[in-house]
Order: sequence, then C-alpha cells, then structure tokens
Amino acid sequence: MHNNGFLSYMKKTIFVAGLALCQAVFAQTPGVEVEKGTLEQGGFVILKVSPGYEVSYKHHLLKPDAEGRVLIGFSRNDGVKQTLTLIESDGKKQKQTLKIAKRSYTVQRINGLPKNKVSPDKATLKLIYRDIAEAKAARKINLPTPYFDSGFDWPTKGIISGIYGSQRILNGKPRAPHLGVDIAAPQGTPLHAPADGKITLSADMVLSGHTVMIDHGYGLRSTVMHLHKVFVKQGDFVKKGQVIGEVGQTGRATGPHVHWGMSWFNVRLDPSLVLISDLKPGDKVSPSALVLNEKEPAMQASSK
Ligand SMILES: [Zn+2]
Repeated sequence: MHNNGFLSYMKKTIFVAGLALCQAVFAQTPGVEVEKGTLEQGGFVILKVSPGYEVSYKHHLLKPDAEGRVLIGFSRNDGVKQTLTLIESDGKKQKQTLKIAKRSYTVQRINGLPKNKVSPDKATLKLIYRDIAEAKAARKINLPTPYFDSGFDWPTKGIISGIYGSQRILNGKPRAPHLGVDIAAPQGTPLHAPADGKITLSADMVLSGHTVMIDHGYGLRSTVMHLHKVFVKQGDFVKKGQVIGEVGQTGRATGPHVHWGMSWFNVRLDPSLVLISDLKPGDKVSPSALVLNEKEPAMQASSK
C-alpha cells in the first residue's frame, strides 16, 4: 500500500514536472505563424508573433498589435529564404526563416510611347526625381490602424493589360520591371478604393499622371495612377469601394487605364495576390471576379 501510494505520488510529480518543463520549452521557442497572405515573391503575409517579442525585417522594427500581428512584404526578386529577427524585451535576438516561392516573369514590349517619357530630357528628369522623392516620403509612413482588415476589391472593371513583375521594353529600350497591375477601361470609368485607408498622397506626376496613394496601415498601401479625375485629397479617409476618381491616361500611358501598385514600405507587391492568383494579359476583370475577392488570401504559399 505504502509503496503504491509513493509510486503514484512520484508519477504525479514527474507528470507535473514534465508539464512545467514543456511549458518552459515552449516559452523559450517563440515564433511567428503565418495567419494570412501569400508566401511568394511579390506577396505579403500577416504574421502572428509569440507574446513579448518584436520583429525586425528589412530594417523595419515591427511592434505586434494587440492581437500579436505584424505585416511583412516580399519583393519581386527576394530570395526563397527570408530571415526575420525576433527581439525580446531585454534585447535578446533570434532568427527565424520563412520560405517563399520563387516566380517567373514575362517580358512585355510597349511601343509608341512619347519619346520624352521613355528617355526624358534633363528638365523632365528633375521633375521625375521630385515625384519619386514625394512618393518615397509617403511610403515611409507607418500608420498603426489595420485598415487592410476591410479586405480588398478590384479598383475598377476592365481588361488586364499589364501584370506584376514583367520585364519591360519601352520603345525598344529595356526599362524597370512593371510592378503593378494595369486595368484598361474607358476614360471616365469610376475608380474605387480597393480597401479602407487614408489618402497620404494626391499629386500630378510626370510619369504616373494624377496619382493617389491610399495607406492601408502597417506599411501597406495602394497607389493608383493615370487618373482622369480625382475626388479625394490628402488626409481624407476612404472606405473600400468608395469612388475616389476616374480612369484616365494622364502621365506615361498609351491608352486609358489604371495602374494599381501596392507596396509594403518600399517593397513593391503584387496587387493580384490579394485578389485572385493567376492573371494573364487579356483576362477580363468583371463583377464576378469581385465575388472571388471575398475569399481570404491563401493561407500558404501557392506555387506558381
Ligand atoms: Zn502599369
């Protein structure tokens, strides 16, 4: 009897000690979990971070929100292994790796662009650099409100005339890759905010024409370009679906279309990844595609 009692006491003690050890081990192995998003070049993910940690990624120190979430984005050419640094309150650091999928990109040739917009003269270049600086300043903003929680919709109906990542040959000259989605639609077609946000830039620029930036929070933003008319101003708050302007062909454009770019700070993202996954030039964007947008972005990497 005595022995049995002792044995059961010992068993209990070992069990409890084991539990405590497990908890200690878990507490010492913090991590990040992908809550939502696409683990691939041009994608972004919302990560759930273990309590008590901050995240450093691409020189941005990210403080998790009340739900432990941070948002990070991957560029067109990011390597398949992305390293995050988890930082404890006492400054202790540890690395964590995320695997992202590599993509292949197409080449797009566009001819018939005005010569001074493909090879600008000195005076035009000066204005272009001014525009770049203005946009860059707006991309540094880190709004703490998760406006992106509204989800995303297409900003307008039309035909996809350009996709993310394609290498561009303009008037026969190699130029920077195309880092957004182009939707061709007649001039005057209403343009909607793809998600909730704050207007952090509204300007008339040399290459992008009438340009509006909508900040969705946590470093994530949309930029729509070549607008004919603009109905919002800097500082305004917009709701997903709200008409913010009209499709046009201001700036460097061969026809009326909207260029929809997304970025996480200075990292250019692929807007189609927050909507549907496989867009090709010529694909029609219709109201039925908008229904697809109600789906949450894929939880895991899609292999394209
Ligand atoms: Zn474009």
